[in-house]
Amino acid sequence: MQASTATDMATAKNINVGPIILLGAPGAGKGTQAKLVARQYGIPHISTGDILRENVARDTDLGRMAKAVMERGDLVSDDLVNGMVAERLKQPDCDRGFILDGFPRTVVQAEWLDAELTARGNTRRPVVISVDVSYNQLLQRLTGRRSCPVDGKIYNIYLQPPTNQNICDVCGSPLVQRNDDKEEVISERLKSNERRTMPLEEYYQKHGRLYRVNGELSVEQVTADIFRAIESAAVAAGTHD
Ligand code: AMP
Repeated sequence: MQASTATDMATAKNINVGPIILLGAPGAGKGTQAKLVARQYGIPHISTGDILRENVARDTDLGRMAKAVMERGDLVSDDLVNGMVAERLKQPDCDRGFILDGFPRTVVQAEWLDAELTARGNTRRPVVISVDVSYNQLLQRLTGRRSCPVDGKIYNIYLQPPTNQNICDVCGSPLVQRNDDKEEVISERLKSNERRTMPLEEYYQKHGRLYRVNGELSVEQVTADIFRAIESAAVAAGTHD
């Protein structure tokens, strides 16, 4: 529990936060922040990437359809992902709110989500929070990532380096870099993400629902800013108990 949070955790769980969407590039810290938001407000964290990976691992029909597309780093079709989200939102744990991580990724998905929420009688428009991190900082975070193949410990050679260059502090094994963390791959991923996210940000900006937080601050500061945005949106919507 952070000292800087807007409300204490027990009180936060009574707030009807409604739908929350986190936008941000790969490496912006969306996953970390989404988990903290889910814990603070007692709402489910819905990551479309996680649901897809689970389906691939269980070799379901959905997983088989998505696998090759995911391996290429492309987007799975809107119909498939929207259907998956529709199923998840039917669960009763979503009634008081939920946080979406990795969805929507396109304007078509955003429009579908608005229509779906309206069709379910949900009068709350999603609160959309963009976690902003500069291109150079993202490049450092992603290309600097190294991991230990033995114990899985993750380092960043620029931001959290091991004591001895390229050697795991815990077990002494040489660290490795994932193929998709190589600079050529990363810069392509970041550029294609920007091409897709810009229109999405414009979509939400036009509807007056976009909050921006500086994702280059410490994890705790970013979390506090996100909590503040969520709670001010809840107050504006008149749902803060
Ligand atoms: P993530 O863990 O969010 O980076 O997602 C991993 C992969 O799952 C992405 O590269 C896409 O192939 C797929 N994916 C996740 N969310 C979506 C989405 N909203 N729309 C389309 N594809 C998605």
